[in-house]
Amino acid sequence: MTGRRLPDWLRTSIPFSNTMAKVESLIRENGLNTVCVHAKCPNRAECYGRGTLTFMILGNTCSRNCRYCNVTPGKPQRLDPDEPVKIGRAVSALGLSYAVVTSVTRDDLPDGGAAHFAETIQQIKTCSPYTKTEVLVPDFRNTIKSLQCIVDADPEVIGHNIETVFRLFPEVRPQADYHRSLEVLSWFAKNSTAVIKSGLMAGLGESDEEIASTLRDLHNNGVRALTIGQYLSPSPEHAAVQKYYTPEEFASLEAIARSIGFSHVESGPLVRSSYYAERTLCS
Ligand code: SF4
Repeated sequence: MTGRRLPDWLRTSIPFSNTMAKVESLIRENGLNTVCVHAKCPNRAECYGRGTLTFMILGNTCSRNCRYCNVTPGKPQRLDPDEPVKIGRAVSALGLSYAVVTSVTRDDLPDGGAAHFAETIQQIKTCSPYTKTEVLVPDFRNTIKSLQCIVDADPEVIGHNIETVFRLFPEVRPQADYHRSLEVLSWFAKNSTAVIKSGLMAGLGESDEEIASTLRDLHNNGVRALTIGQYLSPSPEHAAVQKYYTPEEFASLEAIARSIGFSHVESGPLVRSSYYAERTLCS
């Protein structure tokens, strides 16, 4: 279905703005990565135009190869030890009251990159003391020492995306594990005061019951903030879109999520885990 014309509700047209230019030049001049660019996010013009973005740390090459993701898989690069302070300074320069940081997965590193994440959170606190920080972390292979390292850095929101339903993991997330992700979320919920957040993509071939079951699993494991958005295939080599959900169907999914008990839900065709992420702490 990748060749099918995009439904109207997924078409975006935001004019280029001065704020967008400022964000782009700051990223370029500091050699930083954003998931906005690397994931080909459809909201980039809107988010950059609002002066918001999601930093992607630990390099731009991922040690895993999920079939929905546009980030380049392969042998990751050496870590840039100055990346945390560059991000702290960028957050300050942009005047962000809410910063979102995610990463590629680094199974090649003994701690999965947890210490680098913690240092980045610390640098944001140092350079911009009033900024709230949300981290969207990999599963760190459920290594408690790495999970503790994230908690000790004290971000306001800790996210780990489940991405898809249990049945589709072997097909679209072959190196990940549904239950391991739930265990990671559960550990964070029990061992931190942060809001625990997760995200799900719709359109990879899941059924309504599978979505509902996944939402119940997330809630039962301590997740309280949830995002649901339309999966868009980055290229014909990636997993194909099996269904475009309508805005009304996303509204129904939001109603289901709220009935399960999530306190914060963003559900819509263009929702991504970091889309208007600052609202996460408003619920
Ligand atoms: S939704 Fe997130 S990833 Fe997409 S452009 Fe906005 S901040 Fe970047």
